[in-house]
Amino acid sequence: MDELHYQYNLLRAKNQTLESTERMYRSICNTSTNAFLYYSFADNKLFTMGAWESYFDIRIDSIKNLASLTELVQDKYQLALREILYLEQTKMERASKEVCLLNGKKWVECEVNISYDEKQRPIEKIIRFKDITKFKKQNDELSYLAYYDILTGLYNRNYFVRILADWLRKAETDKSVVSVMFIDIDDFRKINDGLGLIVGDELVQVFGQFLGTFSQENVIVSHFNSDIYCMAIYDPCGNRTVDAIYHEIQSRLQKPFLLSTRHELDITVSVGVAEYPEAAKSALELINCAEIVMFKSKAGGKNGLTFFDTPILNDFLKNIEIENKLKEALFANQFELNFQPQYDSSSGSLRGVEALIRWKDHMGKSVSPSDFIPIAEKNGTIVPIGNWVIDEAIRILAEVKRKYRIDFVMSINISAIQYKRDEFVGDLIAILRKYDVKPNEIELEITETVLIDDFKLVKDKMHTLREYGVKVSLDDFGTGFSSLSYLKGLPIDTLKIDKSFVDTVILDESTRIIMESIIHMAKRLGYDTVAEGVETKEQYDYLKSIGCDTIQGFYLSKPMSVEAFEQLLSEMIH
Ligand code: C2E
Ligand code: MG
Ligand code: MG
Repeated sequence: MDELHYQYNLLRAKNQTLESTERMYRSICNTSTNAFLYYSFADNKLFTMGAWESYFDIRIDSIKNLASLTELVQDKYQLALREILYLEQTKMERASKEVCLLNGKKWVECEVNISYDEKQRPIEKIIRFKDITKFKKQNDELSYLAYYDILTGLYNRNYFVRILADWLRKAETDKSVVSVMFIDIDDFRKINDGLGLIVGDELVQVFGQFLGTFSQENVIVSHFNSDIYCMAIYDPCGNRTVDAIYHEIQSRLQKPFLLSTRHELDITVSVGVAEYPEAAKSALELINCAEIVMFKSKAGGKNGLTFFDTPILNDFLKNIEIENKLKEALFANQFELNFQPQYDSSSGSLRGVEALIRWKDHMGKSVSPSDFIPIAEKNGTIVPIGNWVIDEAIRILAEVKRKYRIDFVMSINISAIQYKRDEFVGDLIAILRKYDVKPNEIELEITETVLIDDFKLVKDKMHTLREYGVKVSLDDFGTGFSSLSYLKGLPIDTLKIDKSFVDTVILDESTRIIMESIIHMAKRLGYDTVAEGVETKEQYDYLKSIGCDTIQGFYLSKPMSVEAFEQLLSEMIH
């Protein structure tokens, strides 16, 4: 009896331990954010534990068997879940899958662990379900940032390049064409500076969204940055060719974009196009080529489309070569000045000379200032080059005046970038003092482009210069925007009429009418007139007859070296 009693107590104690262990496991499972399924292979029994209802909106008693679980997830994830639930057939010990529940809102990670006996028969399996919705969402946001541009919702540059690279690989096999369109909003800086960043951003957004409407299976659209977009078309055909898309963009741009700020903005775009395989073989090169020709569209007056071709590439490569060589040219003393005389049309006497820069590179090859000055303006080397020109021209002026004692004016071309620098006037005065040259012995030639951006600042500086006594001349008059109205009130001494007028003046009646009115108007405003590029006697005689004060051109003299110029001066005094 004692023995029986003892056995009974022992059993009870074991039971109590078991119960408490089970309670412990249950409460651990229930406080966990996970839900568990325990399946015993021997008796084909299914147990559920953990946070089923609160986390998965699933009633435990509705799960009768493993198969019924697959109905809880979306169709496309059923196969993945089945693989987890029936894993024992593959003899693996663990695996995990991510599935989305039926309501489409919750994501669940399912992980299975199976234990096997020594004969490799499955004994039990535990499937853990974990709510990963939050993690998934963060992940989605991160991948969105990795692939898309937040402002426009278009592909970002990196992702665009990746897809384009894939397309090019495919196009190589398929022998297809891939077109890349590089699109840039014209004068976007003016919108940004004038109306503010918020307006600029919204414009970028709405225009980007419009471009986004072109995207389809064979068209991808990307926002690179600022006002730059890029499109790629795989195997262009039908209404998805460069011309068709450009045409649709143009028709949309006939109407303004209405912004939430109530601004109505009319814009134009400059577009460059490069095509695989003709222009380039790699994605980055192709985009680069399209960008190069976009700049051609800009240079051609904006609001245009330019297709890439080999001469453009050669031009571009030539410019790069010039740019690289330009950086060392000044240190290597490769520049010199030539001088082209200007003569008074009525007396025939020397009125002045224009200093024109000449550059021979290290191979002795001459590069025209029309080619390298625009490049120097872009990369900033125009500042030291321009300073050198001023110093050298005034130095030579002082020297020849000392030697020959002849009165004439030295005209010096000044780039807009150089002119707009704060130090410009101070530096110029310092150089005049250094060589002891009077300010009225020099004349600065400034082109109309200098007036475009900041008319008031440019005008004020002209006033300051003239107060010192420096002469100011408006060069290439007639080639820029040539609005006659801004001329009134502009403090200049001289108007230089561009060669393009002189070229046609004999042949074309209307050019003569314009030329005569310019000279008439200039006289009334008190400006001297200089005609440049005069090549023939007829041109000379005509210009003299209508009262043009000064003539410059090959007819009278080509630009010459300093030695030849000195020779000319010495002949004048003898
Ligand atoms: P620009 O200031 O209008 O200079 C006149 C250009 O016309 C010069 O070309 C001159 O050689 C050329 N020319 C003069 N008469 C005739 C003619 O009868 N027929 C023809 N066909 N051409 C004639 P160049 O020296 O090649 O200079 C071109 C442009 O480069 C200049 O145009 C000027 O804008 C710029 N440039 C030249 N030197 C300098 C400089 O030192 N600084 C700056 N910033 N620009 C310069
Ligand atoms: Mg000039
Ligand atoms: Mg000129």
